[in-house]
Amino acid sequence: MQLSIDLSGREVLITGSDAAARQAVRRYRAAGAIISRLSAPAGAREDGPLPERPFLVAAVDDGQPGWDTLLERCRETGILVAAEPPAGPAGHVTLVGGGPGTPELLTVAAVAALRDADVVFYDRLAPHQELCSLSSGELVDVGKRPGHHPVSQSGIEELLVEAALAGRNVVRLKGGDPYVFGRGGEEVAACVQAGVPVRVISGVTSAISVPAAAGIPVTHREVSHLFTVVSGHAPLTEKEHEHLAGLGGTIVVLMGIGTLHQLAAGLRRAGLPADTPVAVVERGYRPGQRTTIAELGTIARAAAGCSSPAVLVIGEVVRVAEANRGHGGAAADLDRLAASLMGA
Ligand code: SAH
Repeated sequence: MQLSIDLSGREVLITGSDAAARQAVRRYRAAGAIISRLSAPAGAREDGPLPERPFLVAAVDDGQPGWDTLLERCRETGILVAAEPPAGPAGHVTLVGGGPGTPELLTVAAVAALRDADVVFYDRLAPHQELCSLSSGELVDVGKRPGHHPVSQSGIEELLVEAALAGRNVVRLKGGDPYVFGRGGEEVAACVQAGVPVRVISGVTSAISVPAAAGIPVTHREVSHLFTVVSGHAPLTEKEHEHLAGLGGTIVVLMGIGTLHQLAAGLRRAGLPADTPVAVVERGYRPGQRTTIAELGTIARAAAGCSSPAVLVIGEVVRVAEANRGHGGAAADLDRLAASLMGA
Protein backbone atom coordinates (compact mmCIF):
# COMPACT_ATOMS: atom_id res chain seq x y z
CA MET A 1 0.00 0.00 0.00
CA GLN A 2 1.21 3.52 -0.71
CA LEU A 3 0.33 6.57 1.33
CA SER A 4 1.16 10.23 0.67
CA ILE A 5 1.79 12.52 3.63
CA ASP A 6 2.44 16.25 3.53
CA LEU A 7 5.80 16.59 5.29
CA SER A 8 6.29 20.33 5.01
CA GLY A 9 7.48 21.70 8.33
CA ARG A 10 7.53 18.21 9.91
CA GLU A 11 10.50 16.89 11.87
CA VAL A 12 11.99 13.84 10.17
CA LEU A 13 14.89 11.81 11.54
CA ILE A 14 16.83 10.05 8.79
CA THR A 15 18.87 7.10 9.98
CA GLY A 16 21.62 5.40 7.98
CA SER A 17 25.18 6.02 6.84
CA ASP A 18 25.88 9.23 4.92
CA ALA A 19 26.54 7.36 1.68
CA ALA A 20 23.35 5.29 1.87
CA ALA A 21 21.15 8.14 3.11
CA ARG A 22 22.29 10.96 0.84
CA GLN A 23 19.39 10.62 -1.55
CA ALA A 24 16.78 10.09 1.13
CA VAL A 25 18.05 13.31 2.74
CA ARG A 26 17.59 15.17 -0.51
CA ARG A 27 14.12 13.73 -1.10
CA TYR A 28 12.83 14.59 2.36
CA ARG A 29 14.39 18.04 2.15
CA ALA A 30 12.67 18.57 -1.21
CA ALA A 31 9.40 17.52 0.44
CA GLY A 32 9.84 20.37 2.94
CA ALA A 33 10.71 18.27 6.00
CA ILE A 34 12.94 19.55 8.82
CA ILE A 35 15.70 16.98 8.88
CA SER A 36 17.90 15.55 11.59
CA ARG A 37 20.40 12.76 11.03
CA LEU A 38 21.72 9.71 12.78
CA SER A 39 24.41 8.01 10.73
CA ALA A 40 25.29 5.11 13.03
CA PRO A 41 23.16 3.09 15.42
CA ALA A 42 25.80 3.62 18.13
CA GLY A 43 24.72 7.29 18.18
CA ALA A 44 21.51 6.27 19.96
CA ARG A 45 22.11 4.59 23.34
CA GLU A 46 19.78 1.78 24.09
CA ASP A 47 18.47 3.38 27.25
CA GLY A 48 19.17 6.99 26.28
CA PRO A 49 16.52 9.46 25.15
CA LEU A 50 15.40 9.31 21.56
CA PRO A 51 16.76 12.14 19.46
CA GLU A 52 14.24 15.06 19.53
CA ARG A 53 10.96 13.19 19.10
CA PRO A 54 10.39 13.32 15.34
CA PHE A 55 7.12 13.06 13.42
CA LEU A 56 8.64 10.32 11.29
CA VAL A 57 11.78 8.21 11.18
CA ALA A 58 13.04 7.48 7.66
CA ALA A 59 15.13 4.37 8.16
CA VAL A 60 17.60 3.87 5.31
CA ASP A 61 18.70 0.29 4.95
CA ASP A 62 22.50 0.75 5.03
CA GLY A 63 23.36 -2.82 6.02
CA GLN A 64 24.76 -1.84 9.44
CA PRO A 65 23.65 -4.09 12.29
CA GLY A 66 22.08 -2.48 15.32
CA TRP A 67 19.33 -0.28 13.88
CA ASP A 68 16.55 -2.66 14.84
CA THR A 69 16.59 -1.84 18.56
CA LEU A 70 16.29 1.89 17.92
CA LEU A 71 13.55 1.48 15.34
CA GLU A 72 11.64 -0.86 17.61
CA ARG A 73 11.73 1.75 20.41
CA CYS A 74 10.44 4.36 18.00
CA ARG A 75 7.55 2.18 17.00
CA GLU A 76 6.74 1.39 20.61
CA THR A 77 6.46 5.08 21.42
CA GLY A 78 4.15 5.64 18.46
CA ILE A 79 6.61 7.26 16.05
CA LEU A 80 6.03 6.39 12.40
CA VAL A 81 8.90 4.49 10.79
CA ALA A 82 9.27 4.48 6.98
CA ALA A 83 11.70 2.06 5.33
CA GLU A 84 13.85 3.76 2.68
CA PRO A 85 16.04 2.10 0.05
CA PRO A 86 19.75 2.98 0.17
CA ALA A 87 21.26 5.19 -2.54
CA GLY A 88 22.70 3.17 -5.41
CA PRO A 89 26.45 3.12 -6.09
CA ALA A 90 27.63 6.57 -7.16
CA GLY A 91 29.14 7.49 -10.49
CA HIS A 92 27.11 5.67 -13.09
CA VAL A 93 24.77 6.46 -15.96
CA THR A 94 21.29 4.99 -16.47
CA LEU A 95 19.57 5.49 -19.80
CA VAL A 96 15.87 5.49 -19.01
CA GLY A 97 13.05 5.04 -21.48
CA GLY A 98 10.38 7.52 -20.44
CA GLY A 99 7.50 6.18 -22.52
CA PRO A 100 5.32 8.30 -24.80
CA GLY A 101 4.77 11.22 -22.46
CA THR A 102 2.54 10.26 -19.55
CA PRO A 103 4.07 9.26 -16.20
CA GLU A 104 1.52 6.44 -16.08
CA LEU A 105 3.51 4.62 -18.75
CA LEU A 106 6.84 4.87 -16.94
CA THR A 107 8.14 1.48 -15.81
CA VAL A 108 8.69 0.65 -12.14
CA ALA A 109 12.45 0.56 -12.89
CA ALA A 110 12.28 4.02 -14.49
CA VAL A 111 10.56 5.49 -11.42
CA ALA A 112 13.20 3.93 -9.14
CA ALA A 113 16.08 5.23 -11.29
CA LEU A 114 14.61 8.76 -11.32
CA ARG A 115 14.18 8.68 -7.55
CA ASP A 116 17.82 7.60 -7.19
CA ALA A 117 19.28 10.21 -9.56
CA ASP A 118 21.54 13.10 -8.56
CA VAL A 119 21.03 14.66 -11.97
CA VAL A 120 18.55 14.01 -14.80
CA PHE A 121 19.28 15.04 -18.38
CA TYR A 122 15.95 15.03 -20.22
CA ASP A 123 14.50 16.20 -23.47
CA ARG A 124 11.22 17.29 -24.92
CA LEU A 125 9.62 13.91 -25.59
CA ALA A 126 10.27 12.52 -22.13
CA PRO A 127 7.47 13.04 -19.56
CA HIS A 128 9.28 16.11 -18.26
CA GLN A 129 6.37 18.06 -16.82
CA GLU A 130 6.06 15.71 -13.88
CA LEU A 131 9.81 15.31 -13.31
CA CYS A 132 9.87 17.48 -10.18
CA SER A 133 7.63 15.04 -8.38
CA LEU A 134 9.58 12.00 -9.60
CA SER A 135 13.11 13.16 -8.85
CA SER A 136 14.70 15.53 -6.38
CA GLY A 137 17.91 15.50 -8.42
CA GLU A 138 19.07 18.40 -10.55
CA LEU A 139 17.01 18.60 -13.75
CA VAL A 140 18.81 19.60 -16.93
CA ASP A 141 16.95 20.20 -20.20
CA VAL A 142 19.06 19.13 -23.16
CA GLY A 143 15.94 19.27 -25.29
CA LYS A 144 15.86 18.64 -28.95
CA ARG A 145 13.20 20.07 -31.17
CA PRO A 146 13.00 19.32 -34.86
CA GLY A 147 15.73 21.35 -36.53
CA HIS A 148 16.85 22.86 -33.22
CA HIS A 149 19.51 21.23 -31.05
CA PRO A 150 20.30 23.26 -27.94
CA VAL A 151 22.88 20.66 -26.85
CA SER A 152 24.56 18.61 -29.57
CA GLN A 153 24.61 14.82 -29.33
CA SER A 154 28.34 14.80 -28.53
CA GLY A 155 27.69 17.58 -26.01
CA ILE A 156 25.08 15.42 -24.28
CA GLU A 157 27.47 12.47 -24.18
CA GLU A 158 30.16 14.66 -22.62
CA LEU A 159 27.74 15.94 -19.98
CA LEU A 160 26.72 12.38 -19.02
CA VAL A 161 30.30 11.15 -18.74
CA GLU A 162 31.51 14.25 -16.88
CA ALA A 163 28.74 14.06 -14.27
CA ALA A 164 29.30 10.33 -13.68
CA LEU A 165 33.06 10.77 -13.36
CA ALA A 166 32.33 13.44 -10.74
CA GLY A 167 30.62 10.70 -8.72
CA ARG A 168 26.99 11.53 -9.49
CA ASN A 169 24.17 9.13 -10.30
CA VAL A 170 23.16 10.22 -13.75
CA VAL A 171 19.85 9.51 -15.46
CA ARG A 172 19.45 10.20 -19.14
CA LEU A 173 15.68 10.28 -19.64
CA LYS A 174 14.51 9.76 -23.19
CA GLY A 175 11.12 9.62 -24.83
CA GLY A 176 9.77 6.14 -25.57
CA ASP A 177 12.47 3.48 -25.65
CA PRO A 178 16.14 4.54 -25.62
CA TYR A 179 17.03 2.11 -28.40
CA VAL A 180 14.24 3.08 -30.85
CA PHE A 181 15.52 6.08 -32.83
CA GLY A 182 16.81 7.40 -29.53
CA ARG A 183 20.59 7.36 -30.08
CA GLY A 184 20.80 5.25 -26.92
CA GLY A 185 23.49 3.06 -28.45
CA GLU A 186 25.76 6.05 -29.00
CA GLU A 187 25.36 7.24 -25.42
CA VAL A 188 26.10 3.75 -24.09
CA ALA A 189 29.23 3.60 -26.28
CA ALA A 190 30.42 6.99 -24.99
CA CYS A 191 30.08 5.79 -21.38
CA VAL A 192 31.82 2.48 -22.07
CA GLN A 193 34.66 4.29 -23.78
CA ALA A 194 35.09 6.58 -20.78
CA GLY A 195 35.00 3.61 -18.37
CA VAL A 196 31.69 4.77 -16.82
CA PRO A 197 29.28 2.00 -15.74
CA VAL A 198 26.08 2.29 -17.76
CA ARG A 199 22.77 0.44 -17.97
CA VAL A 200 19.63 0.82 -20.03
CA ILE A 201 16.03 0.65 -18.83
CA SER A 202 13.68 -0.10 -21.70
CA GLY A 203 10.67 2.11 -22.13
CA VAL A 204 7.25 1.89 -23.77
CA THR A 205 7.90 2.94 -27.34
CA SER A 206 5.63 5.41 -29.09
CA ALA A 207 5.76 3.12 -32.14
CA ILE A 208 3.28 0.80 -30.42
CA SER A 209 1.74 2.87 -27.65
CA VAL A 210 0.74 5.95 -29.67
CA PRO A 211 -1.27 3.92 -32.21
CA ALA A 212 -2.81 2.16 -29.19
CA ALA A 213 -3.81 5.53 -27.75
CA ALA A 214 -5.92 5.94 -30.89
CA GLY A 215 -7.32 2.42 -30.55
CA ILE A 216 -5.12 1.00 -33.31
CA PRO A 217 -3.51 -2.41 -32.69
CA VAL A 218 -0.29 -2.70 -34.73
CA THR A 219 -1.06 -6.37 -35.36
CA HIS A 220 -4.46 -8.00 -35.54
CA ARG A 221 -5.41 -11.61 -36.22
CA GLU A 222 -6.21 -12.15 -39.89
CA VAL A 223 -5.55 -8.48 -40.68
CA SER A 224 -1.83 -7.91 -40.12
CA HIS A 225 0.77 -10.33 -38.81
CA LEU A 226 3.77 -8.04 -38.98
CA PHE A 227 4.64 -4.44 -38.42
CA THR A 228 7.61 -2.44 -39.58
CA VAL A 229 8.83 0.65 -37.79
CA VAL A 230 10.48 3.20 -40.04
CA SER A 231 12.09 6.58 -39.46
CA GLY A 232 10.70 9.32 -41.68
CA HIS A 233 13.45 11.69 -40.61
CA ALA A 234 14.80 11.68 -44.18
CA PRO A 235 12.88 10.71 -47.33
CA LEU A 236 13.17 7.02 -48.23
CA THR A 237 14.76 5.84 -51.45
CA GLU A 238 12.70 4.32 -54.24
CA LYS A 239 14.10 0.92 -53.35
CA GLU A 240 13.03 1.33 -49.72
CA HIS A 241 9.51 2.28 -50.83
CA GLU A 242 9.39 -0.90 -52.87
CA HIS A 243 10.64 -3.04 -49.96
CA LEU A 244 8.09 -1.53 -47.60
CA ALA A 245 5.20 -1.90 -50.01
CA GLY A 246 6.26 -5.50 -50.68
CA LEU A 247 6.34 -6.53 -47.01
CA GLY A 248 2.63 -6.23 -46.36
CA GLY A 249 1.44 -5.83 -42.79
CA THR A 250 1.45 -2.56 -40.88
CA ILE A 251 3.87 0.31 -41.48
CA VAL A 252 4.53 2.57 -38.50
CA VAL A 253 6.46 5.77 -39.18
CA LEU A 254 8.11 7.94 -36.54
CA MET A 255 9.34 11.47 -37.29
CA GLY A 256 7.29 11.23 -40.47
CA ILE A 257 5.32 14.48 -40.63
CA GLY A 258 7.92 16.36 -42.67
CA THR A 259 8.23 13.60 -45.27
CA LEU A 260 4.64 12.32 -45.31
CA HIS A 261 4.03 13.67 -48.77
CA GLN A 262 7.04 11.85 -50.28
CA LEU A 263 6.27 8.63 -48.40
CA ALA A 264 2.64 8.47 -49.52
CA ALA A 265 3.61 9.16 -53.14
CA GLY A 266 6.49 6.66 -52.99
CA LEU A 267 4.34 3.86 -51.55
CA ARG A 268 1.70 4.54 -54.21
CA ARG A 269 4.35 4.28 -56.96
CA ALA A 270 5.55 1.05 -55.36
CA GLY A 271 2.06 -0.45 -55.72
CA LEU A 272 0.21 0.11 -52.43
CA PRO A 273 -3.46 0.77 -53.24
CA ALA A 274 -4.65 4.37 -52.98
CA ASP A 275 -7.40 3.31 -50.56
CA THR A 276 -4.98 1.84 -47.99
CA PRO A 277 -6.06 3.44 -44.70
CA VAL A 278 -3.64 5.78 -42.95
CA ALA A 279 -3.82 7.33 -39.50
CA VAL A 280 -1.80 10.23 -38.14
CA VAL A 281 -1.81 10.26 -34.34
CA GLU A 282 -0.50 13.52 -32.92
CA ARG A 283 0.56 14.17 -29.31
CA GLY A 284 -0.28 10.69 -27.99
CA TYR A 285 -1.25 10.60 -24.28
CA ARG A 286 -1.02 14.36 -24.04
CA PRO A 287 -3.49 17.20 -24.00
CA GLY A 288 -4.54 17.82 -27.56
CA GLN A 289 -4.14 14.22 -28.70
CA ARG A 290 -5.68 14.00 -32.15
CA THR A 291 -6.15 11.31 -34.77
CA THR A 292 -6.55 12.07 -38.47
CA ILE A 293 -7.69 9.21 -40.66
CA ALA A 294 -7.58 9.19 -44.45
CA GLU A 295 -6.32 6.99 -47.28
CA LEU A 296 -2.91 6.77 -48.86
CA GLY A 297 -4.16 8.77 -51.82
CA THR A 298 -5.62 11.56 -49.69
CA ILE A 299 -3.52 11.64 -46.51
CA ALA A 300 -1.00 14.28 -47.65
CA ARG A 301 -3.82 16.80 -48.03
CA ALA A 302 -5.82 15.58 -44.98
CA ALA A 303 -2.79 15.83 -42.70
CA ALA A 304 -1.62 19.22 -43.95
CA GLY A 305 -2.39 20.78 -40.55
CA CYS A 306 -0.74 17.99 -38.52
CA SER A 307 2.42 18.64 -36.56
CA SER A 308 5.16 16.74 -34.75
CA PRO A 309 5.27 14.68 -32.57
CA ALA A 310 3.07 12.27 -34.47
CA VAL A 311 3.07 8.59 -35.37
CA LEU A 312 1.79 7.47 -38.77
CA VAL A 313 0.13 4.11 -39.18
CA ILE A 314 -0.38 2.71 -42.66
CA GLY A 315 -2.40 -0.46 -43.14
CA GLU A 316 -5.67 -2.28 -42.64
CA VAL A 317 -5.32 -2.24 -38.82
CA VAL A 318 -6.49 1.38 -38.95
CA ARG A 319 -9.93 0.03 -39.88
CA VAL A 320 -9.95 -2.18 -36.76
CA ALA A 321 -9.82 0.94 -34.62
CA GLU A 322 -12.61 2.50 -36.62
CA ALA A 323 -14.76 -0.62 -36.25
CA ASN A 324 -14.17 -0.68 -32.46
CA ARG A 325 -14.91 3.00 -32.21
CA GLY A 326 -18.30 2.40 -33.75
CA HIS A 327 -19.02 -0.19 -31.06
CA GLY A 328 -18.00 2.05 -28.19
CA GLY A 329 -14.85 0.02 -27.52
CA ALA A 330 -11.44 1.02 -26.21
CA ALA A 331 -11.01 3.65 -28.88
CA ALA A 332 -14.19 5.41 -27.83
CA ASP A 333 -12.97 5.42 -24.22
CA LEU A 334 -9.72 6.95 -25.38
CA ASP A 335 -11.65 9.60 -27.30
CA ARG A 336 -13.42 10.54 -24.09
CA LEU A 337 -10.09 10.55 -22.23
CA ALA A 338 -8.53 12.77 -24.88
CA ALA A 339 -11.54 15.10 -24.74
CA SER A 340 -11.26 15.39 -20.96
CA LEU A 341 -7.51 16.03 -21.21
CA MET A 342 -8.16 18.78 -23.72
CA GLY A 343 -10.74 20.30 -21.44
CA ALA A 344 -8.31 20.18 -18.49
N1 SAH B 1 12.61 6.66 -28.74
C1 SAH B 1 11.30 7.16 -29.08
C2 SAH B 1 11.25 7.71 -30.49
C3 SAH B 1 12.14 8.90 -30.72
S1 SAH B 1 11.93 9.58 -32.32
C4 SAH B 1 10.27 6.04 -28.88
O1 SAH B 1 10.63 4.87 -28.71
O2 SAH B 1 9.08 6.36 -28.85
C5 SAH B 1 10.73 10.83 -32.03
C6 SAH B 1 9.41 10.47 -32.68
O3 SAH B 1 8.67 9.61 -31.84
C7 SAH B 1 8.49 11.64 -32.93
O4 SAH B 1 8.82 12.36 -34.08
C8 SAH B 1 7.17 10.93 -33.08
O5 SAH B 1 7.08 10.30 -34.34
C9 SAH B 1 7.29 9.84 -32.06
N2 SAH B 1 6.64 10.18 -30.75
C10 SAH B 1 7.21 10.11 -29.55
N3 SAH B 1 6.34 10.44 -28.57
C11 SAH B 1 5.18 10.71 -29.18
C12 SAH B 1 3.87 11.09 -28.72
N4 SAH B 1 3.60 11.25 -27.44
N5 SAH B 1 2.90 11.27 -29.65
C13 SAH B 1 3.15 11.11 -30.96
N6 SAH B 1 4.36 10.75 -31.44
C14 SAH B 1 5.36 10.54 -30.58
